[in-house]
Amino acid sequence: MTEKLSDKTDIKSLTLPELTEELKTKGQQPFRAKQIYQWMHEKCARSFDEMTNLSKDFREQLKEWYAYTALQTVQVQESRIDGTKKFLFALADGNVVESVWMQYKHGNSVCISSQVGCRMGCKFCASTLDGLERNLLPSEMLDQIYAITLATGERVSNVVVMGTGEPLDNYDNLLKFIRLLTDENGLHISQRNVTVSTCGIVPRMRQLAEEKLQITLALSLHATTDEKRKRLMPIANRYSIRELMEACEFYFRQTGRRITFEYSLVGGVNDWEEDAAELSALAAPLCCHINLIPVNPIKERDYVRSDANKIQAFKNMLEKNNKNVTIRREMGRDIDGACGQLRRRYKEEPSGGMKRA
Ligand code: SAH
Repeated sequence: MTEKLSDKTDIKSLTLPELTEELKTKGQQPFRAKQIYQWMHEKCARSFDEMTNLSKDFREQLKEWYAYTALQTVQVQESRIDGTKKFLFALADGNVVESVWMQYKHGNSVCISSQVGCRMGCKFCASTLDGLERNLLPSEMLDQIYAITLATGERVSNVVVMGTGEPLDNYDNLLKFIRLLTDENGLHISQRNVTVSTCGIVPRMRQLAEEKLQITLALSLHATTDEKRKRLMPIANRYSIRELMEACEFYFRQTGRRITFEYSLVGGVNDWEEDAAELSALAAPLCCHINLIPVNPIKERDYVRSDANKIQAFKNMLEKNNKNVTIRREMGRDIDGACGQLRRRYKEEPSGGMKRA
């Protein structure tokens, strides 16, 4: 699997000190690095040509030295209900990824993809049906946010890494991405406003804890026993719930950050009263928040959504046990169902009758 797009260095994936060092080898002064970095990460420039305070000759030189990633917007779908927008972007190699823009009272949130496809194989998820194509570069994760910032003309305040892909399966690039995203010379998004969602790769969760970042870790739990979890998520064959809970506890101890448990409610599978009781017990010793996600049915599988009463009863039961719990508000219900479905539909039928950008 290759994720390198050309032989040239991917300039947007360099930190400011790295870029300064890099340009020094080309005989350039540090202030040049700062100028270029600001164009890339603060002004979201789409090419070297936009960097108008650099001479034309220097810009041509930069093009020869470095690769500059930029996304092409392939499709945009906008919800008439809540203004949520789903973007389908083409990468330089023709692969497509999707990202979502959501407006909340507390600010604007973008959900990004971390890989092209996914190899985790969760049974209810559309993103994993064709496996993993490749990892995204740090620059390509940033580009999703930059392109949306330019398209909406609004500031992004929250970033959730919950689109296609398993972020902890692309660990080094993810870390670099977070450092660039939260850097004071770039968009400077607060670490506390960044959430990374994982299906539960235990060693990576522990490694992330040791980075001592202030980001939120969300664990896709979805079941309360190993046996049930194995039926929904192949990763459960590798790591037990007990190991997951220990890793969550460790994350909290290292970072002081409350864990989020995501629990997708799948009708008749994990939405019983006993599941709610077991979930309360599991969560009891941990400082956590539980986010219930009514499953989004995908056409390739026959999972169904729990009915509204059952979802409410599940929530009530958790609350009775003093758990902090929310039901994920459905955003953009009228535009496309589950994560990964826009990309999938595009792959099946590129002209697919959707609104083009
Ligand atoms: N790989 C990461 C992040 C991607 S998915 C992870 O597993 O956490 C983000 C969340 O949406 C996860 O909790 C995932 O299990 C859930 N999800 C995926 N497909 C879904 C569907 N069809 N319905 C409800 N939740 C889904």
